[in-house]
Amino acid sequence: MGLDVGWAVDWLKLSAKAMAEHRVELIELDRPIGDSDHGENMDRGFQAVLQKLDESPPETPGAALKAAAMALMSKVGGAAGPLYGTAYLRAATSWGAATDVDAEALVAALEAARDGVVARGKAELGDKTMVDAWTPAVEAARKAAESGADPVGVLEAAAEAAETGAAATDPLVARKGRASYVGERSAGHRDPGAASTALLLRAAAAAAVGSTGDQGADAV
Ligand code: ADP
Ligand code: MG
Repeated sequence: MGLDVGWAVDWLKLSAKAMAEHRVELIELDRPIGDSDHGENMDRGFQAVLQKLDESPPETPGAALKAAAMALMSKVGGAAGPLYGTAYLRAATSWGAATDVDAEALVAALEAARDGVVARGKAELGDKTMVDAWTPAVEAARKAAESGADPVGVLEAAAEAAETGAAATDPLVARKGRASYVGERSAGHRDPGAASTALLLRAAAAAAVGSTGDQGADAV
Protein backbone atom coordinates (compact mmCIF):
# COMPACT_ATOMS: atom_id res chain seq x y z
CA MET A 1 0.00 0.00 0.00
CA GLY A 2 1.25 3.47 -0.83
CA LEU A 3 1.04 6.79 0.95
CA ASP A 4 -2.14 8.85 0.79
CA VAL A 5 -3.17 12.47 1.26
CA GLY A 6 -3.08 11.98 5.05
CA TRP A 7 0.63 11.32 4.79
CA ALA A 8 1.17 14.35 2.54
CA VAL A 9 -0.62 16.63 4.99
CA ASP A 10 1.26 15.10 7.94
CA TRP A 11 4.52 15.65 6.04
CA LEU A 12 3.76 19.32 5.51
CA LYS A 13 2.72 19.75 9.14
CA LEU A 14 5.91 18.06 10.38
CA SER A 15 7.86 20.23 7.94
CA ALA A 16 6.33 23.36 9.45
CA LYS A 17 7.21 22.07 12.91
CA ALA A 18 10.79 21.33 11.84
CA MET A 19 11.22 24.75 10.25
CA ALA A 20 9.93 26.43 13.42
CA GLU A 21 12.15 24.30 15.66
CA HIS A 22 15.25 24.78 13.49
CA ARG A 23 14.56 28.41 12.61
CA VAL A 24 17.44 29.79 14.66
CA GLU A 25 19.84 27.08 13.52
CA LEU A 26 19.08 27.84 9.84
CA ILE A 27 19.49 31.56 10.52
CA GLU A 28 22.88 30.85 12.12
CA LEU A 29 23.96 28.75 9.12
CA ASP A 30 22.97 31.57 6.77
CA ARG A 31 24.91 34.17 8.80
CA PRO A 32 28.56 33.55 7.79
CA ILE A 33 27.85 32.74 4.14
CA GLY A 34 24.61 34.59 3.47
CA ASP A 35 22.27 37.16 4.96
CA SER A 36 20.89 35.32 8.02
CA ASP A 37 17.37 34.96 6.70
CA HIS A 38 17.01 31.32 5.65
CA GLY A 39 15.42 30.14 8.91
CA GLU A 40 13.06 33.07 8.91
CA ASN A 41 12.15 32.55 5.26
CA MET A 42 11.42 28.84 5.67
CA ASP A 43 9.46 29.26 8.91
CA ARG A 44 7.31 31.99 7.37
CA GLY A 45 6.77 29.92 4.22
CA PHE A 46 5.66 26.79 6.07
CA GLN A 47 3.35 28.76 8.35
CA ALA A 48 1.69 29.94 5.13
CA VAL A 49 1.51 26.30 3.98
CA LEU A 50 -0.33 25.37 7.20
CA GLN A 51 -2.79 28.19 6.69
CA LYS A 52 -3.46 27.11 3.13
CA LEU A 53 -4.06 23.48 4.17
CA ASP A 54 -6.50 24.69 6.81
CA GLU A 55 -8.41 26.90 4.38
CA SER A 56 -8.86 24.22 1.74
CA PRO A 57 -8.01 20.65 2.75
CA PRO A 58 -6.46 18.84 -0.23
CA GLU A 59 -7.92 15.59 -1.55
CA THR A 60 -4.81 14.02 -3.06
CA PRO A 61 -1.07 14.00 -2.24
CA GLY A 62 -0.46 15.99 -5.42
CA ALA A 63 -2.99 18.65 -4.43
CA ALA A 64 -1.32 18.96 -1.01
CA LEU A 65 2.11 19.50 -2.54
CA LYS A 66 0.73 21.90 -5.13
CA ALA A 67 -0.86 24.03 -2.41
CA ALA A 68 2.45 23.97 -0.53
CA ALA A 69 4.34 24.98 -3.67
CA MET A 70 2.12 28.03 -4.16
CA ALA A 71 2.52 29.13 -0.55
CA LEU A 72 6.28 28.61 -0.62
CA MET A 73 6.68 30.53 -3.86
CA SER A 74 4.76 33.51 -2.57
CA LYS A 75 5.99 33.57 1.06
CA VAL A 76 9.54 32.22 1.38
CA GLY A 77 11.20 34.83 -0.81
CA GLY A 78 14.94 34.97 -1.45
CA ALA A 79 16.59 32.31 -3.57
CA ALA A 80 14.99 29.44 -1.68
CA GLY A 81 11.34 30.42 -2.30
CA PRO A 82 11.27 29.90 -6.07
CA LEU A 83 13.56 26.87 -5.75
CA TYR A 84 11.42 25.04 -3.20
CA GLY A 85 8.26 26.21 -4.95
CA THR A 86 9.47 24.67 -8.20
CA ALA A 87 10.58 21.48 -6.42
CA TYR A 88 7.20 20.92 -4.76
CA LEU A 89 5.27 21.85 -7.89
CA ARG A 90 7.23 19.40 -10.04
CA ALA A 91 6.75 16.67 -7.43
CA ALA A 92 3.01 17.42 -7.34
CA THR A 93 2.81 17.28 -11.13
CA SER A 94 4.58 13.91 -11.18
CA TRP A 95 1.73 12.48 -9.07
CA GLY A 96 -1.14 14.05 -11.01
CA ALA A 97 -4.49 13.08 -9.47
CA ALA A 98 -3.24 9.83 -7.90
CA THR A 99 -4.70 9.11 -4.47
CA ASP A 100 -1.88 6.84 -3.47
CA VAL A 101 1.90 7.06 -4.00
CA ASP A 102 4.09 3.98 -3.94
CA ALA A 103 7.88 3.59 -3.75
CA GLU A 104 8.30 4.19 -7.49
CA ALA A 105 6.16 7.33 -7.39
CA LEU A 106 8.22 8.67 -4.49
CA VAL A 107 11.44 8.19 -6.45
CA ALA A 108 9.85 9.91 -9.46
CA ALA A 109 8.71 12.85 -7.31
CA LEU A 110 12.12 13.29 -5.67
CA GLU A 111 13.77 13.21 -9.05
CA ALA A 112 11.28 15.71 -10.48
CA ALA A 113 11.85 17.99 -7.48
CA ARG A 114 15.63 17.84 -7.84
CA ASP A 115 15.41 18.42 -11.60
CA GLY A 116 13.20 21.45 -10.93
CA VAL A 117 15.76 22.94 -8.53
CA VAL A 118 18.53 22.36 -11.07
CA ALA A 119 16.49 23.80 -13.96
CA ARG A 120 15.71 26.90 -11.94
CA GLY A 121 19.02 27.50 -10.14
CA LYS A 122 21.53 25.92 -12.54
CA ALA A 123 23.64 24.58 -9.68
CA GLU A 124 25.65 21.41 -10.08
CA LEU A 125 26.54 18.83 -7.49
CA GLY A 126 29.36 20.25 -5.34
CA ASP A 127 28.40 23.92 -5.79
CA LYS A 128 27.41 23.98 -2.08
CA THR A 129 23.65 24.39 -2.51
CA MET A 130 20.51 22.42 -1.70
CA VAL A 131 21.28 20.31 -4.80
CA ASP A 132 23.98 18.65 -2.68
CA ALA A 133 21.21 17.27 -0.46
CA TRP A 134 18.59 16.59 -3.18
CA THR A 135 20.83 14.63 -5.56
CA PRO A 136 22.14 12.03 -3.08
CA ALA A 137 18.56 11.74 -1.77
CA VAL A 138 17.27 10.89 -5.26
CA GLU A 139 20.03 8.35 -5.78
CA ALA A 140 19.54 6.66 -2.41
CA ALA A 141 15.77 6.58 -2.88
CA ARG A 142 16.12 4.95 -6.29
CA LYS A 143 18.54 2.36 -4.97
CA ALA A 144 16.22 1.56 -2.07
CA ALA A 145 13.19 1.19 -4.36
CA GLU A 146 15.15 -1.03 -6.74
CA SER A 147 16.04 -3.34 -3.91
CA GLY A 148 12.39 -3.64 -2.91
CA ALA A 149 12.04 -1.05 -0.14
CA ASP A 150 8.54 0.14 0.77
CA PRO A 151 7.66 3.87 0.85
CA VAL A 152 8.95 4.23 4.42
CA GLY A 153 12.25 2.63 3.44
CA VAL A 154 12.56 4.83 0.35
CA LEU A 155 11.96 8.01 2.34
CA GLU A 156 14.28 6.96 5.14
CA ALA A 157 17.03 6.29 2.61
CA ALA A 158 16.39 9.69 1.00
CA ALA A 159 16.46 11.51 4.35
CA GLU A 160 19.65 9.84 5.46
CA ALA A 161 21.40 10.60 2.18
CA ALA A 162 20.23 14.22 2.32
CA GLU A 163 21.62 14.55 5.85
CA THR A 164 24.96 13.12 4.74
CA GLY A 165 24.90 15.36 1.65
CA ALA A 166 24.19 18.46 3.73
CA ALA A 167 27.07 17.64 6.09
CA ALA A 168 29.32 17.13 3.07
CA THR A 169 28.77 20.78 2.04
CA ASP A 170 30.82 21.92 5.08
CA PRO A 171 34.25 22.03 3.39
CA LEU A 172 32.99 23.18 -0.03
CA VAL A 173 33.48 26.60 -1.59
CA ALA A 174 30.14 27.99 -2.79
CA ARG A 175 29.76 28.56 -6.51
CA LYS A 176 26.09 29.55 -6.65
CA GLY A 177 23.79 31.90 -4.79
CA ARG A 178 24.62 34.50 -2.19
CA ALA A 179 27.22 32.26 -0.49
CA SER A 180 29.37 32.44 -3.64
CA TYR A 181 29.92 36.16 -2.89
CA VAL A 182 32.13 35.27 0.09
CA GLY A 183 34.25 32.97 -2.11
CA GLU A 184 36.84 30.84 -0.32
CA ARG A 185 35.54 32.01 3.05
CA SER A 186 32.39 29.96 2.47
CA ALA A 187 34.43 26.81 3.20
CA GLY A 188 33.95 25.55 6.75
CA HIS A 189 30.22 26.31 6.91
CA ARG A 190 27.23 24.11 6.11
CA ASP A 191 24.93 25.27 3.35
CA PRO A 192 21.62 26.36 4.94
CA GLY A 193 19.48 25.21 1.98
CA ALA A 194 21.04 21.75 2.03
CA ALA A 195 20.35 21.64 5.77
CA SER A 196 16.68 22.61 5.30
CA THR A 197 16.26 20.05 2.50
CA ALA A 198 17.52 17.33 4.84
CA LEU A 199 15.04 18.43 7.52
CA LEU A 200 12.15 18.40 5.03
CA LEU A 201 13.00 14.92 3.76
CA ARG A 202 13.38 13.64 7.34
CA ALA A 203 9.88 15.01 7.99
CA ALA A 204 8.61 13.08 4.95
CA ALA A 205 10.06 9.86 6.36
CA ALA A 206 8.70 10.52 9.85
CA ALA A 207 5.22 11.19 8.45
CA ALA A 208 5.38 7.92 6.51
CA VAL A 209 6.34 5.94 9.62
CA GLY A 210 3.39 7.55 11.37
CA SER A 211 0.92 6.84 8.58
CA THR A 212 1.87 3.21 8.01
CA GLY A 213 2.06 2.39 11.72
CA ASP A 214 5.47 0.83 11.60
CA GLN A 215 8.00 -0.49 9.18
CA GLY A 216 7.67 -3.89 10.82
CA ALA A 217 5.34 -6.85 10.57
CA ASP A 218 2.19 -4.97 11.49
CA ALA A 219 2.44 -2.69 8.45
CA VAL A 220 0.03 -4.16 5.93
P1 ADP B 1 18.89 34.08 -0.11
O1 ADP B 1 20.19 33.43 -0.52
O2 ADP B 1 18.25 34.84 -1.22
O3 ADP B 1 19.02 34.86 1.15
P2 ADP B 1 17.84 31.89 1.40
O4 ADP B 1 18.80 32.32 2.46
O5 ADP B 1 16.44 31.66 1.85
O6 ADP B 1 17.85 32.87 0.18
O7 ADP B 1 18.33 30.52 0.75
C1 ADP B 1 19.68 30.26 0.54
C2 ADP B 1 19.84 28.84 0.02
O8 ADP B 1 19.31 28.72 -1.29
C3 ADP B 1 21.27 28.40 -0.10
O9 ADP B 1 21.75 27.89 1.12
C4 ADP B 1 21.24 27.35 -1.19
O10 ADP B 1 21.02 26.06 -0.67
C5 ADP B 1 20.03 27.76 -1.98
N1 ADP B 1 20.44 28.31 -3.28
C6 ADP B 1 20.82 29.56 -3.57
N2 ADP B 1 21.09 29.69 -4.88
C7 ADP B 1 20.89 28.46 -5.43
C8 ADP B 1 20.99 27.92 -6.75
N3 ADP B 1 21.35 28.68 -7.80
N4 ADP B 1 20.69 26.61 -6.94
C9 ADP B 1 20.33 25.84 -5.90
N5 ADP B 1 20.20 26.30 -4.64
C10 ADP B 1 20.48 27.57 -4.40
MG1 MG C 1 19.68 34.07 2.93
